[in-house]
Amino acid sequence: MVTITKENLSTIEATCSCGHAFDSVWISPRAYHKPVKFWYGIFWGHSGGKPDKIEWVCRRCHDVVGVSTDPEHLLHYRHA
Ligand SMILES: [Zn+2]
Repeated sequence: MVTITKENLSTIEATCSCGHAFDSVWISPRAYHKPVKFWYGIFWGHSGGKPDKIEWVCRRCHDVVGVSTDPEHLLHYRHA
């Protein structure tokens, strides 16, 4: 797993357990919210704002290939 910033996003060379590269169609970004914020969002009827981190996950082997806490990524992928 690698840490992703907006500087290295286009040059990531990480692969998951089943061998897919970071730019493969199997790898998709996913917004991660802390569970406590998730329930808070349900209860109060809003999404809780920005996620805590963005994870790039393989949809076949569920490996987390990369993770980003870059504020621009949090904003860009917050509904992923
Ligand atoms: Zn995989």
